[in-house]
Amino acid sequence: MHCPFCGDLDTKVIDSRLVAEGDSVRRRRECLSCGERFTTFETAELVMPHLIKRDGRREPFDEEKLRYGLSKALEKRPVSVNEIETAVNHIKHKLRSTGERELPALQVGEAVMAELRALDAVAYVRFASVYRDFQDISEFAAEINKLADGRKPGSL
Ligand SMILES: [Zn+2]
Repeated sequence: MHCPFCGDLDTKVIDSRLVAEGDSVRRRRECLSCGERFTTFETAELVMPHLIKRDGRREPFDEEKLRYGLSKALEKRPVSVNEIETAVNHIKHKLRSTGERELPALQVGEAVMAELRALDAVAYVRFASVYRDFQDISEFAAEINKLADGRKPGSL
């Protein structure tokens, strides 16, 4: 950690605490060279990978977009806001734990499908039909059958 005042590398942490949601650590540091004090917010381990779009463009991971996508698929379904939050966290954890700095955007879609599949069959099919852009009805039916295999009859 460079001192923002003199650029020296020798700084010491004088106070350290978790910020509100526990996503980052706020550190008070003191430069051992010039004595100035400054604050850092460290979220190193929580940095999300960038996403590689189909056309090769990169874009930053967008948590709001992810939450919106999930909510949209789960519209009017018996799934609570808490469950959606849990799903968002699962997905973030999954992407982060790859340790990659960049991931195909496709991987987010797959993670969303996995979460929806566990949460709500209708939402899953809803999302899958848009996301996978099924070419024909047989493909769609196959997906529903796959789903039905893992569930008790009548739950769809
Ligand atoms: Zn300094």
